[in-house]
Amino acid sequence: MELFDTHAHFEGTPDETRAAVERAHDAGVTRIMSVGGSESLNKGTEGFRYRAIGWDRDQAGRDLPKLDYTGVAAVGEIGLDYHYSPETRAAQCELFARQLELARSLGLPVVIHTRDADDDTLGLLREIPSRGIIHCFTGTPRFCRDLLDLGFMISISGIVTFRAAENVRESALVVPDDRILIETDSPFLAPVPMRGNANEPAFIVHTARFLADLRNTQVEDFARLTTDNALRTLGG
Ligand SMILES: [Zn+2]
Repeated sequence: MELFDTHAHFEGTPDETRAAVERAHDAGVTRIMSVGGSESLNKGTEGFRYRAIGWDRDQAGRDLPKLDYTGVAAVGEIGLDYHYSPETRAAQCELFARQLELARSLGLPVVIHTRDADDDTLGLLREIPSRGIIHCFTGTPRFCRDLLDLGFMISISGIVTFRAAENVRESALVVPDDRILIETDSPFLAPVPMRGNANEPAFIVHTARFLADLRNTQVEDFARLTTDNALRTLGG
């Protein structure tokens, strides 16, 4: 089985990162995309074959240096979060729009975070045609369909295994086989039965098994299709 964790963050020492990548490989997670969004997270992507760099909603309104996108697979994570930071809404939209334009000019896919910001997210994606991944999807099936209509890949995290996450399970069933991805979003959001631990890419196995069951398929088949989807989206 070959799994692709399309979204993990690394902020530890190089040794810690290397050890986590090794444990992932031993668990069948042969590919990982290291995702940035802040200065330290962007730095944590260095050395990865698949990496995304950019500026997330927490950097909105700041004076941000230019990044070198040479060899980068995607721009991210970028996007909007009105759950934690409603007060910076205007600045978040401005930064998000700027990076969508940048990704388009570079011909790169984007990795988008969106929480409690459905309307602004859809509005900006309709204004600035983009392609890529909606990461750690936690919205309604309706929002999911709107994003699928815009051509996006939907990435499901370990949240889908949480007891209270009925809407994520409903949304995960709305996504067709050729549009679904899986991710850990580690070090956050460890899936059941690892909840309470720091998350790491090796744990994506639990999310893959859970989703395969939910979608009534074999985990080997689900691993193959999500890996193929990721390679197609990020460039094999
Ligand atoms: Zn993330």
